[in-house]
Amino acid sequence: MKIVMLGAPGAGKGTQAKMIAEKYGIPHISTGDIFRANIKNGTELGKKAKTYMDQGALVPDELTLELIMDRFAKDDCKDGYVLDGFPRTIPQAEALRRALSEKGDKLDYAINVEVPDENIVNRMAGRRACLSCGGTYHIVYNPTKKEGICDACGGELVLRDDDKPETVAKRLDVYHTQTQPLIEFYAGEKILKEVDGTKDVAEVFDAITAILAGSVDA
Ligand code: ADP
Ligand code: AMP
Repeated sequence: MKIVMLGAPGAGKGTQAKMIAEKYGIPHISTGDIFRANIKNGTELGKKAKTYMDQGALVPDELTLELIMDRFAKDDCKDGYVLDGFPRTIPQAEALRRALSEKGDKLDYAINVEVPDENIVNRMAGRRACLSCGGTYHIVYNPTKKEGICDACGGELVLRDDDKPETVAKRLDVYHTQTQPLIEFYAGEKILKEVDGTKDVAEVFDAITAILAGSVDA
């Protein structure tokens, strides 16, 4: 099963993608997590990506595509994946469609997690991220058992630089101009599904699993 998660930054794509990955035994692939791991490890790619990410801008398509195509080549992708934060532009979506169709393959679902802009700033200001394992929490809506410590790996949680309110406004702007057109793109491909992302985490997940139930063996 090959799934793309769509939605504004902070809509809950990563939260839901992790739950989908666990339930269906497919990898969760987040380009943002891969960029952050590269930044943490001081790689050349990380250095290049950081300059864009710090400004709330998108990393150029060619860098992103190189990275994601390498990731798709890994063995764990053979039974599918859930993509979170990719594609983020029409050229990325077209490159993905091309790469899949060359193998006689295609995406199964594009799930749009719908959350209005006014909820987003609050979500991002309270988000805490683990730079070791990519775990994501919220100080109010999804707190950790021990404050500041990742439940999954014991790593330290941080407020991402790009989650500060001034950068969030820019990221929302970028989302509306460059990423939102993907909703139309996947509607045209007849694989778009919409869920109300303002509901609580478990309700959103129920809505998603109901959508996926049609394509999965029980
Ligand atoms: P995205 O991957 O779309 O950027 P995240 O999954 O990281 O978004 O979620 C953004 C923030 O909102 C996180 O702090 C997360 O814990 C919180 N969150 C996610 N889903 C919900 C929800 N349904 N209700 C309230 N908060 C949520
Ligand atoms: P995310 O973790 O998905 O919120 O992504 C954080 C940042 O990483 C974004 O604001 C972009 O700068 C960069 N990024 C992640 N995925 C992509 C992508 N598919 N294309 C371009 N930039 C990306």
